Amino acid sequence: MAPGGGRGGRFLTEEEKANAPKVTLPLLKRIFSYLTPYWKQMAIVLVCILASSALTLLPSVLTGRIIDEGLIGQDMKKLVTLILISLGVTLGGNLIRVAESYLNNWIAQHITYDMRNKMYRHLQRMSQNFFTSNNQGDIITRMTGDIAGVERVITSTFSSILSNGITLGVAVVLMYQENWILATIGVLIIPLFAIPTRLAGKTRWTLTREAQECNDEINGILNETLSVSGQLLVKLFGREDYEYGKYESANHRMIRLNIREGMAGRWFMVVINTFSSVGPMLLYLVGGLLIMKYDSDLSVGDITVMVALLGKMYGPVNSLLNIQVEWIRSMALFTRIFEYFDMPVEIQNAPDAIIPTKADGNIEFKHVGFGYEPERKILKDINFTLEKGKSIAIVGPSGSGKSTIINMIPRLYDVQEGEVTFDGVDVRKLDLHFLRENVGIVSQETYLFNGTIRDNLLYAKPDATEEELIEACKKANIYEFIEKQEKGLDTKVGNRGLKLSGGEKQRISIARVLLKDPVLFIFDEATASLDSISESKIQEAINPIIKSKTSILIAHRLSTILAADEILVIKDGVIAERGVHQELVDDGGIYTELYETQFGKAFDEKKE
Ligand code: ATP
Repeated sequence: MAPGGGRGGRFLTEEEKANAPKVTLPLLKRIFSYLTPYWKQMAIVLVCILASSALTLLPSVLTGRIIDEGLIGQDMKKLVTLILISLGVTLGGNLIRVAESYLNNWIAQHITYDMRNKMYRHLQRMSQNFFTSNNQGDIITRMTGDIAGVERVITSTFSSILSNGITLGVAVVLMYQENWILATIGVLIIPLFAIPTRLAGKTRWTLTREAQECNDEINGILNETLSVSGQLLVKLFGREDYEYGKYESANHRMIRLNIREGMAGRWFMVVINTFSSVGPMLLYLVGGLLIMKYDSDLSVGDITVMVALLGKMYGPVNSLLNIQVEWIRSMALFTRIFEYFDMPVEIQNAPDAIIPTKADGNIEFKHVGFGYEPERKILKDINFTLEKGKSIAIVGPSGSGKSTIINMIPRLYDVQEGEVTFDGVDVRKLDLHFLRENVGIVSQETYLFNGTIRDNLLYAKPDATEEELIEACKKANIYEFIEKQEKGLDTKVGNRGLKLSGGEKQRISIARVLLKDPVLFIFDEATASLDSISESKIQEAINPIIKSKTSILIAHRLSTILAADEILVIKDGVIAERGVHQELVDDGGIYTELYETQFGKAFDEKKE
């Protein structure tokens, strides 16, 4: 379903009908809870609607007195007074409508402001799993399209139900006060007008939708067959006539639909015009009969009032007939937004989360088991210890579970078996903020925000001094590059850092993590090959960190592997081998194989 009803127009599509949400009391209460903070403003809106509806109808009533007392009674003073009052009332009614729409808009903006903030906060708390399993487009549509739909609901649907309902009610009451016979005729005529209008509207709407679909089909044919590769395919297979036939038949269908749609428009006008003039004529006829044959005390002015009031009823009746459609769409919007609000936050702070006073960064994996999907275990019984100041290199074939292991440490995902401890405390019991502050990750896919190099560095430490920035950049081996840029640290990195090379981005992200200065460094070395100069610059930046700080690195290069104190070889989610380089090579197992096929080769190439 398109956000906010999309091209649905005045009728529900089959899809909307099938997906119509169940309107329950809890749902209504929940919607209401978003409105309640603004009840005072809403009360004023209600008063405005009441006043403006009454004022809109008053000139119709005054018309009767203008005719009877002013024109027929030939009283000039009264005539002028009544005309002035009538004008004043119309102006007053319209001014109140301005105030009403201002307030309405104000309320809608504030409610959606609250909703957007709440949604953003909620999304921020969602786990990595949520973002990997949901389409980014869908997430953004809920944030923007659906919430904008709510704004429309409040500014138009809710207030239209109220103002049309009130206008209609007041008009009926006024008519019955004038004359019950004419009022009853008026009330009976309204459905006669409204139902055919709706039927005609539906025919036209169906045709418009068919024409849109046909148009989409034509666009599809054009896009496919008039593209460079599409044309080539058509030519090489000699399918020109076949494609022409397809295009011609869709084109033909299109013109037939357009003609029918145009004619339905004409019929539609005929129906509306006829029925809207039948009503007044009938009132004149019956009114005349009552005066002439039954000696009623009805005046010409009274009949004119009835006709004018009837005219004022058409619009509200028509709008109210659409209410069901708008109502279902609105409920669907709210339901979809609430669905997001109700998604559980998988990873959150324990109620009694521990905030230690200091952090060393000792890590221990105890019998850790994990799978992204229930039926497929990625990690099986992982056990290892990383002591403060030491470093571990994790190596293994692609897809063996290396990144998954490090995901467990800052709780991007939670272990399903066993536990991961940070300085002896299960990470699930630690304060999340504390944990993530003390763990710094340079991931495979470096992400830089659109902005300058400085902006990206300050993200890690907003109050960093110029010296600190420069020092971090020097350590990350990127300062030389920055110095060469005309704007230095204020060089723009482009959208997602696209203006920089892969190696430059990685070194900036190393500088960023150095500024953060966590107790534990994690590097997920990129597998994508960089040129040898970039690679050696990155290694020059990483190797001193591995040697001096507590660190874990997923390594693909021999020089980084050699810098680590221990090597873990992962295969199919288990630690298949562990030790130092020479021991592992001597063992002649998986490591030797990897050494010979991957890092060894890269090492040899570099030596050449
Ligand atoms: P590489 O060296 O290629 O980065 P890796 O050893 O780091 O690989 P992981 O990224 O840990 O491997 O992935 C291990 C397995 O888990 C892979 O089979 C991968 O397809 C799967 N996997 C990774 N992330 C997800 C996810 N979010 N949802 C489902 N499966 C996933």
